Amino acid sequence: MITLPDKLITKAARLEDASAREIKKGIADGTIVVLKNNTRGVARPCAVGKGMTTKVNANIGLSSGNSSVALEMKKMNAAVEAGADTVMDLSTGSSIRKLRRKILGCCPVPVGTVPIYDLACGKKKEFRSLGESDFVDVLEKQADEGVDFFTIHAGITIDAARFAVKKPRVISIVSRGGALLASWMLDAGRENPFLTQFDRVMEIAKRYSITLSLGDSLRPGAIQDATDHLQIQELLVLGRLQQRAMSRGVQVMIEGPGHMPLDQIEMNVKLQKKICHGSPFYVLGPLVTDAAPGYDHITSAIGGAVAAWHGADFLCYVTPAEHVKLPDVDDVKKGVIASKIAAHAADIVKGIPSAARRDLAISKARAKRDWKTQFRLSLDPELPKKMRLESQPTEEDVCAMCAEFCSIKMMEEGLGKKSARGKK
Ligand code: SF4
Repeated sequence: MITLPDKLITKAARLEDASAREIKKGIADGTIVVLKNNTRGVARPCAVGKGMTTKVNANIGLSSGNSSVALEMKKMNAAVEAGADTVMDLSTGSSIRKLRRKILGCCPVPVGTVPIYDLACGKKKEFRSLGESDFVDVLEKQADEGVDFFTIHAGITIDAARFAVKKPRVISIVSRGGALLASWMLDAGRENPFLTQFDRVMEIAKRYSITLSLGDSLRPGAIQDATDHLQIQELLVLGRLQQRAMSRGVQVMIEGPGHMPLDQIEMNVKLQKKICHGSPFYVLGPLVTDAAPGYDHITSAIGGAVAAWHGADFLCYVTPAEHVKLPDVDDVKKGVIASKIAAHAADIVKGIPSAARRDLAISKARAKRDWKTQFRLSLDPELPKKMRLESQPTEEDVCAMCAEFCSIKMMEEGLGKKSARGKK
């Protein structure tokens, strides 16, 4: 049985269109998780899952030889300011621990990591010579530092790794954690240590109230590879692990694709919900085409909106820099906003009352040409404000798009005259 403090649930409920009772019930049946390590203060803990608003995660982090702690902190602030519900530190460069501690010291939203990166970047031991217990020890260390959720790639088996290297796909493994584990397993000739040590993994997660985000090492990284044997085989393993975690009172969510054509998204969401017993679904995109590098915040927002519409609960953002370079601060903002648009569009049709209310309020402000209210309620208030100021520095109540032919104003004036005539 999963139990969380009432105070935490009440705090999470305040940010939702749901009561603490509903969240408590969702936690108990495994359809909702609340992301928060019990040793860290988080100003905005977030509830992810059934009936909750669709959440957005932003990835930041050092890459070998690139970026700096100061720049990644700027990205973290930009992500939170743009509305990210969580931040994942995916650092793989030097100063990895310094950055993580800095983020954990001030980030107002839950922070996630992929702990295996710590091992891959550590200098103490060659990655290939690591033992099974090293994979668990790093979790204990990060749990103690205050990380709120872990991506654990426990679903990739040695058989799957052996099959993946036979090149049955266009792109074999695109998950960094998955590729690291596959290389370790193939080298050592041993099973996935997160799978063999899953009891210890759960024990740490339980002790710190950490949510396990069961990673999809074998997510498709090319449209052509979507919903293939490797992806589905891993999902079946994740479904079994989800049940084990639930029976130990450990919160769990499931990560999903990836690259996926539009017509397979609904089926994939439903399949994940069925196989993983309604567990919250955290999708990485999905990107609906491989043909738009430089615009992958858009390809993923299209996929994210469709996935969330059909029940995905948590969208991992993708920035315009995806597949091209390490994102800069502006890329981070664009990625968060694109995913927030996808999440919000889905929330309208998921029946989240505050989402529909927000749209109605903007529509009414638009009808009145009340620019201030429109911008204040926008997902990105700054951009439209700047655009209007640049194109039209005066206080005119129409915009430069149609100017004196503003249809809204013409109709308003026409209706005004008509009602004035009617009063005579
Ligand atoms: S001028 Fe055109 S675009 Fe602008 S508010 Fe009026 S109808 Fe809308």
